[in-house]
This record gives sequence, C-alpha cells and structure tokens, in this order.
Amino acid sequence: MTSLHPSPVATDGQGAVPGAAPAALPGADLLEALLSDTDPEHDPVTHVHRLPARDPRVSEWPAWVGPQLRGRLAERGVLAPFSHQVAAAELARSGRHVVVATGTASGKSLAYQLPALTALAEDPRACALYLAPTKALARDQLASVAALADSSVRPAAYDGDTPMEERDWVRRHSRWIVTNPDMLHRGVLPAHQKWSSTLRRVTYVVVDECHAYRGVFGSHVGHVLRRLRRICRRYGANPVFVLASATVADPAAAASRLVGAPVTAVTEDGSPRPGVTFALWEPPLTERTGEHGAPLRRSAVADAAGLLADLVERGARTLAFVRSRRSAESVADQARRVLVERGRADLAPRVDSYRGGYLPEERRELERALSSGALLGVATTNALELGIDIAGLDAVVLAGYPGTLASLWQQAGRAGRAQRESLVVFIARDDPLDHYLAHHPRAVFGRPVEATVTDPTNPYVLGPQLCCAAAELPLLPEELTDFGGAAAEAQVAELVAAGQLRSRPTGFYWAGRGRPDVDIRGDGAAPVSIIEGSTGRLLGTVDGGAAHATVHGGALYVHRGETYVVDEFDVQDACAVVHPESPEWTTVARDVTDLTVVSTDRTRRLGTVTAHTGVVHVTNQVVAYQRRRLGTGEVLAEFPLDLPPRQLRTRAVWLTFDERAIARADLDDVSVPGSLHAAEHASIGILPLLATCDRWDLGGVSTALHPDTGAATIVVYDGHPGGAGFAERGFAVLRQWLQATRATVASCECEAGCPSCVQSPKCGNGNDPLDKAGAVRVLDVVLDELAAAADRELDEQTDGGRDLAADVPSEADRTPVAGPASNLPADDAAEAGAGASLRRRSDGASGRGRPTQGDDRTDIGRRAAGADDGPARGPSDDLSDDLVF
Ligand SMILES: [Zn+2]
Ligand SMILES: [Zn+2]
Repeated sequence: MTSLHPSPVATDGQGAVPGAAPAALPGADLLEALLSDTDPEHDPVTHVHRLPARDPRVSEWPAWVGPQLRGRLAERGVLAPFSHQVAAAELARSGRHVVVATGTASGKSLAYQLPALTALAEDPRACALYLAPTKALARDQLASVAALADSSVRPAAYDGDTPMEERDWVRRHSRWIVTNPDMLHRGVLPAHQKWSSTLRRVTYVVVDECHAYRGVFGSHVGHVLRRLRRICRRYGANPVFVLASATVADPAAAASRLVGAPVTAVTEDGSPRPGVTFALWEPPLTERTGEHGAPLRRSAVADAAGLLADLVERGARTLAFVRSRRSAESVADQARRVLVERGRADLAPRVDSYRGGYLPEERRELERALSSGALLGVATTNALELGIDIAGLDAVVLAGYPGTLASLWQQAGRAGRAQRESLVVFIARDDPLDHYLAHHPRAVFGRPVEATVTDPTNPYVLGPQLCCAAAELPLLPEELTDFGGAAAEAQVAELVAAGQLRSRPTGFYWAGRGRPDVDIRGDGAAPVSIIEGSTGRLLGTVDGGAAHATVHGGALYVHRGETYVVDEFDVQDACAVVHPESPEWTTVARDVTDLTVVSTDRTRRLGTVTAHTGVVHVTNQVVAYQRRRLGTGEVLAEFPLDLPPRQLRTRAVWLTFDERAIARADLDDVSVPGSLHAAEHASIGILPLLATCDRWDLGGVSTALHPDTGAATIVVYDGHPGGAGFAERGFAVLRQWLQATRATVASCECEAGCPSCVQSPKCGNGNDPLDKAGAVRVLDVVLDELAAAADRELDEQTDGGRDLAADVPSEADRTPVAGPASNLPADDAAEAGAGASLRRRSDGASGRGRPTQGDDRTDIGRRAAGADDGPARGPSDDLSDDLVF
C-alpha cells in the first residue's frame, strides 16, 4: 500500500501547510488507492457501502418562536430549522414528552432549545433542567444555551465541579441548570426543600444522549427521573421531558421506560449529511495460533496503524479510534515508524495520539492542530467521540466495534466535510460480534436493531430507589404505579417487613438512619478500593461483584489505560494493593459456576426445544488464574487462588433440548457438551448486537443434563444482581439473536473454532470442550423450531384463531420450575438446588476483566464514577489488541 496516488482533486487549501502531503482524495478514491497494492486474494475489505450525501429538509419556524430567539439563531447561521427539529419542538410545546432520535450531528439541541427557551422567555419564572451523561457534553451545551438565551436565564452548571460558594447562586438565580443524574440523585432531590423554588417552576427537563443510560445504571437513572417527576408534582409542576438519543431500535419504548411515562419519538432526520464511503474490513487469519491451536487474525490495531500511515501519506486528515490508551499510543508509534521507513520522516511529527483526560485547553489545541492540518493523523480512545469540535475530517478508522452502534456512528460521524465525500473504515477485531458485523452490512447500515435496555423493576434497583424516594417525601400508595406497579408494591411490603420503611396512614416513611446510601453506578456490592502500594494513593474503585476476577492477587489490572499488577487483595477490607508494571503477559481468572433455576416467568414451547426466561441463582468462585502471553494468548503458567464463593441472583434466558432435538442435531454423548458450550459462547458474543450491553455483562452455563431442567440446557444470564434487562431482550428477540449467532459461527473460515466465532476470552473452562460444527447444528434445530412456530402463529392468525403458539406466560407471575426443587418456595428452591446442582461448565459472570479475566462476566463497574470520557461504557481496558503486529 505504498504507491503515491496522484491526486485528481485539488481541495481545501490543506496543501499550503509546510511539508505538505498531497491533498486528500474523496472517500471512494481514497479507498481504491489504499487497496491498490493489496493482493486481491487477501483483500481485507468485506463490504463497501456508500452513504450518499443527503440534502437538508427544512421547515418554517413555528409561529410561537419569538423574533429574538430567531435572530440569535440566525446570527449563528441557523436560518431555517430542519424538519425533525420542528416536529419534536411542536410535540414538546403541546405538552407531550418527546424523544428525538436522529443521526450524529443532526442538530438535536434545537429540538429542545426552541420550546424550552421560548417558555423561559414567555414566563420570567420558568426554569429548565438539562441532564448530560458527561461533563464535556454538559459544558458544550452550556455555552450553546448561553449564546441563545435572554440574559435573565443565566444558564449555569450544577455538578461535582461547581464550587461550593457558587452552588447557592446557581440554585437561586439560574433558570437553565445543567446537571447530571448523579447530582440529581445525591444533591438536588434529597435537598428538595432548598430547591423548591426551582422545582415548582420546572417546565422542561432535557435528557441528552439518553441512550447512555442503560443496564443497571440506566435502571437507576430511570428511578431518579421518576423521583424528580414525583417531587415536581408535589410542588405543583409537571415538566415536559425532551430526550435526545442516538438512532436505536424503538426509541419511544426505551425513552418511555426511562422516564416512566409515554414518550413520542421523532426519527425522520431532516439534516443534511455529506457523502461517506464506508468500508468493512476484516484482517486475515495469520500463521499465529492461540488457545488449542486456534488460528488468530492479524490484530485490528496493527491494521489501524498501517491504515493511519497510508492515509497520512496521502494527505488525509484522519482519526483512528481504538479501545485503550495503550493501543492509541501503539497505533501512533507504529504509524510514525511506517512513515519513516517509507522515507516520509517529514510526516511523522504530524501523527500523534490522544488519550483523553487532557485539560480543556489541551483539547482545544488538538482541535486546532487537526483543523489547520498541522496534525494529519491522531489515534484516540473514544474520548474524542463527543464534546470536541473538529471541522470534518477526510477519514475515520475504527479499530474494533466500540460497543454500541450509537458509538460507532458517533465515531464515524467525525468524518465528512461539506461538499466532499469522506472515508470510514471499520476494522473488525478477532471476536464474534466484530466478525458478524464485518459480514453483515445490514446490521450496520440497515434499520437499527440495537435497543437501549433498562429494567427499572430489578428488585436490587427498585428497593434502594424506593427508600430514596420515601426519604425525600413519604410514598403514597398511588405513587407506586409510577415506580413499577405490582413490582413496587411487593418491594415496599418487603422493605416494611425488613424495617426499612414504616407504614403509616399518611404513606410509607423511610425508617433507616440518615439517608439511604445508594450508588447509582454500582451494582450493589461494596466497591473495592485500588491502592498504589508505594504511595498509598487511591487509584479508583472496582465494583465488588467484579473484584474477584479482576484484582485477585497477581492479576494484571488496567486502570484508565495504565497497567498495574496486584500485590494483595484483601476481601475483608475490600481493597487491593497494586504497583505499576507493564509485563508482556496478561492474566485470565479461572472460575467455577453453579447455577440453579429459581423460577420461570415465561416459557415458549418450540416443539423439541423450549425457551425460558426467569430468575436464576448463580454461585461463582474464582479458583485460579493463568498468565498468558500478550497477543498470542499462550498460557505461561497457572496459579491457584483461595477466594470465597460469591452469590448472584439474577435473570436469565435459557434453552432446553429434549432428546429428539439432540438426535436431530446429530449429536452423541461426546459431542453434546462441546456443541452446547460453543453455541453458548457465540450467543453471548452476539447478544450485544441487539441489546446495549457487552459480553462482559453476561454469563453463561451449558450442560448436557441440568438437574433443574432435566434436559440439555444452555443458559445465558445477566451478570448484574437482579438483572439489567439483557436476558429479557434475548428472550424477546430469540430468533434474530440465534440467526445472527448461527451466521457468525457458520461463516467463520477457521476449522474448529477461534476467537472470531466460538472461543471466548473469558471462558472459565479454558475454551474446552468446544465443537464448532455441532454448535451450528444445534442452532439450526432451534431456528427450525422457531421458524415452524412462527408459521403456526401465522396460520392461526389467518384462521382467525387465537395466538396459541409460543410466548405463554406461566400461570401467575412466577412458577417454580419443575425438577427436584419444584415444590419449594423460590428462596428455598435456590438453596436446595444449589446443593443438588453439578459443578458445571462455567462461563460465570460478575467479574470485570477484559479479555484478560475469568469467564463471561460483567463489567458495570469498569468505569469510575464521574469519569469524563464518554457515555457510560468507558474506554475499555483492552489489552488483547495491543502490540501485536
Ligand atoms: Zn472461527
Ligand atoms: Zn466457556
């Protein structure tokens, strides 16, 4: 890829920079040039998608938007609003809660600024609350509102960074308060009397980037918003909620669940978009081998570095997104080296890395350098995804799936200048989801399939949140509808029985001491402190649930992109002592998991296969860890660990196979375990396509005979206490989920399984046994049965018959499952079952390691509270890509 392609297009005057590279080519030509030297046999590009430029669709200003606001917008270059901005603004103005879910940089802000600023201009007492998931975004929005609002609005931030002496001022004088859910939860709602003059006048609540609120954290935020609505109501206010979301599947449902009230979605995007050539790219298999001799692909980071060098050489201003700081540095280093080798040492200084966490001035400096062309190539974590203003770039390279489609589009959206087409290259990493995306462009470019998932009825979220609400103001029975109806009533009864709430004729009162201490970013377990031994400095915390697998003695621990080795993990005191070190190995925890079925909520009979969802009890024990060579995954040594087992009660989705199904899949006693295990791994790898989680949020168990089900069983469970909605989503979209899983496994060109299909980086069982071919046959049987069930449903519908097939809710809400423990109440059943169950293949959850640790485990705590580099799923501590060239 070294040939210099003559530039047919002179553009933008970028060539004026000293030592200039040739001006960049438009996207499609750029891609062709990049590939001109590639051996067609090994063309890594699996698909090229052209997104044509889109013309804007504008609307008239609504009559109610005042001339002043219009004038200020005109000064800022907004001469006419886009159609989606007006549609959303009109809905909000009419008093409807609305979510605007349109593309990156489509101007969603105007959708809430129009109605909210108008209301504030019309009523000098009206207030607005604006919530953002990151401080960077909050500051940007603050500046934007300040430029548009009347002087009486006095927009101000009220967050962890607001100095104490300013807080009173903000509360008294600001009418546009920029804050976040954490601050609402800890600062505003518990002190609502102090805030009463604001809360009684709130007319609009803006929830920006609301897709960031997902999983357990999102479920907590949902309750914080319910608490806010309740308190406002008590003070006589009934604010309209305007939410902004990335394009996701069914934004109205997700937003309604978040707010706890019906929300209307606006999804028709009226903004213009420059044309983009979007290439999907999969690095080829190499000679290198990993676990059990599986072939490994060239790393995404290596290809990103090569592409960055190629693009810079062609004068294209490029951002390369990678998943960790260390990868960012390694990509920049490698790209510079390539340039020097090619005799373009002059370009090497124009390549740099950006690791996030820099001061605002440094960010601005970087923006300037990129905008002026002084810098041509920057490798970055997702820190540059939001809150940075770079006039469009020529190319964006994504090294690996950033975790959500919203993030992918956010990053891709950094490319594109008016008038000229840009290039985006998505490089698949060596894992099932990336592999699937590289071969299924519809999943990327088609109708969105990824849903923002929350579960506000999770008892581990609901209970603490009801305590918070009761501590703020006594809970009235009729208010429980808002907090989850029957689930909330049951929870309140439990809290009363436990002495945490007191029932009085005037409502339910908080009976505990002080205020309830609820961490909305944790999963309930006490966090473990990470302390640097030599200095005693507190580096951060890890979720208690994740700690055993990630900070056990000897673990390689990654904190904000820096690596440490754990000297000692004290379970009792919940702290881990570490020292900085960057060894050439990483660690993987080995664990054993027992899983018992507590209750089945819903069952779907599919002939020889049955799908279930319900509550499970998981006992997980980290028993050892392995040191593995970076890059190849070669096991260097294994060390035993002596850690206590931990319990997790959560929600799961599971499949049971009767003997006919096993026979149809042509499996014998030897191939059953490996086939189920392989199908389980791949399905865990793929569920994040359909729900906003990642494989580290999930756990799994598969077994040829599970005592609770009496059958061959594959279980995928949610790694968070009480569940975060992932298992339900899996049950709801079972067919789509398993189709994608099957396609991933079947299309992988490896022979017997590799990290791109059925091997899991966190398998507690060392990826053994795995039967790739058997997994495809098992999945085929399930898919056949699902297809037959769908046909039956269709027939029954056309016959006018009742929809009998499938989806039969079990009688009442929760029926204990059949099996040895079936006649016991749920709790006892869990215990009885635990004793009875086998130690079986563990794809255990509730750890947090990245490709390093443990098995299929959770990750909610991976982000330190208040971290400021992107929405909830932070830059990962991903080492698997590093330094493998
Ligand atoms: Zn494979
Ligand atoms: Zn496994």
